[in-house]
Amino acid sequence: MTPVEHAFSENGALANAISGFSPRQAQTDMAIEVAQAINNQSSLIVEAGTGTGKTFAYLIPALIANQQAAEKEEPQRKIIVSTGTKNLQEQLFHKDLPLIKKSLATQAQVALLKGRANYLCVYRLEQYQQSRGQLDAQTLADFVKVREWANTTNTGDTGELVNVMENSPVFPFVTSTVDNCLAKDCPNFEDCYLIKAREKAIDADLVVVNHHLFFADMALKDTGFGELIPKADVMIFDEAHQIADIASEYFGDAFSTRQLLDLCTDVIQIYKTSLTDVKQLGKAAEKLLKASQEFRLLFNYDPERGNWREKHHQKRFGEAFAALKVDLDFLYQVIKLCISRNEAIDNCFERAVSLLAQYDIMADVDALGMSFWYETTPRHVVLHKTPLSVADKFSDYVKESGAGWIFTSATLAVNGKFEHFAEHLGLKGASHLLLESPFDYAVQSQLVVPRYLPEANDKNRANVLANMAIPLIEASEGACFMLFTSYRVMHQVAELLSELIDNPLLVQGQMGKRKLLDEFIEHKKSVLLATASFWEGIDVRGDNLTCVIIDKLPFASPDDPLLQARSEDVKRRGGEPFAQIQLPQAVIALKQGVGRLIRDVEDKGIMVICDNRLVNKPYGEVFLNSLPSMTRTRNIEQAVSFLQNMKNRD
Ligand code: SF4
Repeated sequence: MTPVEHAFSENGALANAISGFSPRQAQTDMAIEVAQAINNQSSLIVEAGTGTGKTFAYLIPALIANQQAAEKEEPQRKIIVSTGTKNLQEQLFHKDLPLIKKSLATQAQVALLKGRANYLCVYRLEQYQQSRGQLDAQTLADFVKVREWANTTNTGDTGELVNVMENSPVFPFVTSTVDNCLAKDCPNFEDCYLIKAREKAIDADLVVVNHHLFFADMALKDTGFGELIPKADVMIFDEAHQIADIASEYFGDAFSTRQLLDLCTDVIQIYKTSLTDVKQLGKAAEKLLKASQEFRLLFNYDPERGNWREKHHQKRFGEAFAALKVDLDFLYQVIKLCISRNEAIDNCFERAVSLLAQYDIMADVDALGMSFWYETTPRHVVLHKTPLSVADKFSDYVKESGAGWIFTSATLAVNGKFEHFAEHLGLKGASHLLLESPFDYAVQSQLVVPRYLPEANDKNRANVLANMAIPLIEASEGACFMLFTSYRVMHQVAELLSELIDNPLLVQGQMGKRKLLDEFIEHKKSVLLATASFWEGIDVRGDNLTCVIIDKLPFASPDDPLLQARSEDVKRRGGEPFAQIQLPQAVIALKQGVGRLIRDVEDKGIMVICDNRLVNKPYGEVFLNSLPSMTRTRNIEQAVSFLQNMKNRD
């Protein structure tokens, strides 16, 4: 028996340290394969169904490999674990790792590293201390809390600030961005929390990061960074289904009016506090600030994504974009006259130079192999240039690294195959492993595809959905998620349900995501209506969630500019865009949504997918073959009985 097998055995380290631990074959199989990939420095892709225990199945072999190297006095294996979100990072670092370290009795040094926006910037805190009169009352109140906390924190991790809302406007004033960080020129460099956290990560045996941070490091998108990954021997990606899109983002370029606004705000601040003699500074910054706000106003009010190449060719957008360049160039010229007067203005000069370069990239919309697209937020526009594929770049990196690469998630395979995932990342020679969930889906759940549903674009659809949901909500006594593919339909259904049922209705956007979930769990009879961000990473167990209704198959909008560009590219190569891109993407998204229902061996419930295409289109089979094997029905009454029986047994 290998040390890894032994750790997972009946008398192994986990059984000794964790009460109630019992060996699970799928978990042990995964751990053995992970250990091999680490030893052979090869790549492994594992789909581990919900409940397999994949976190332990990758952490244990990685830490054992590190331990063995230490015992043989060989160079220690440095491990990077990358997760999908900050919450998962924290759970892994604060919950799973201490347990595993204890069970293996390892002395491995572990570190948690978050993105720079999560660390207090001592320099900016001091700067804004001088000008807090400019902050509004709420921001000022939060600023006072941050300042008090700053006197006591050891880590500078803003996650400790529980009494300040995550989206408080104070954070841009007290954290840094790649643009405004003074790095080695910073007078507070020695006390910088971000630098300290990075140094700790460099020295640790195992570092927990998130995908955004990983790819920022890999693509060298953050100054003074880029040292972590080249030193690692083992890379592990959990929630790996997300990484192709995140990698594209970091291997591409972006230019946002937010960056312009931040630059203007900082220049105005410098003019008011230190370079008061250079009046042109204030004027040039105000002018650019106005131009970037006017540029945003050209786009629709509601946030949207669209084709920047097309927009750029339209006269009014082309002209407004050209006007931005004139004002940015003017600000650059004025800042240039102030170079060397202080570090802050030198930093602004570098940012203006870099923004001019980024501007030119976004103006060259005819570049090949790239998608040019934009997205808007209520206040800003971000222009993106995204490579159509990251496969070549990523696979070169994997080959050159000489490391073991492990990719895992509960949703990687489509119709039992991994081609879609592997091709996107250029992982041609990687081994695969597909591990079924240990849950008994046929007993624990039922899949309902209701009959007589209107077409996906039928005007009466919201009405039909709301009325169809009522008996299910009654039978499940709330404890129901309704997951939508569009905000519009979500709001229409919410409005209708508010008239038709008495259950508390929680609608995405009413409050922050975490708060909304807390409310859902606290008010047992509630119904939660949400879109994309609730399809993933939500873990509500037991009676708290017994019914999940999905409004339709989650195909990406055909208007999505990135999808359009990728589809054209596939067509040019003689491929089938629907089969190669849209279908696999939608299958993975649906698997994620369906994965919200059964989270534990004791869980039970019904999964309703309101889309006839699942049963009357040939590609419906691909979806069905990719989902867990739930019993199926088209009859709402049967689903109602299933829920009633469940409740009666309770
Ligand atoms: S080095 Fe950058 S992040 Fe650190 S204190 Fe200075 S400006 Fe802030």
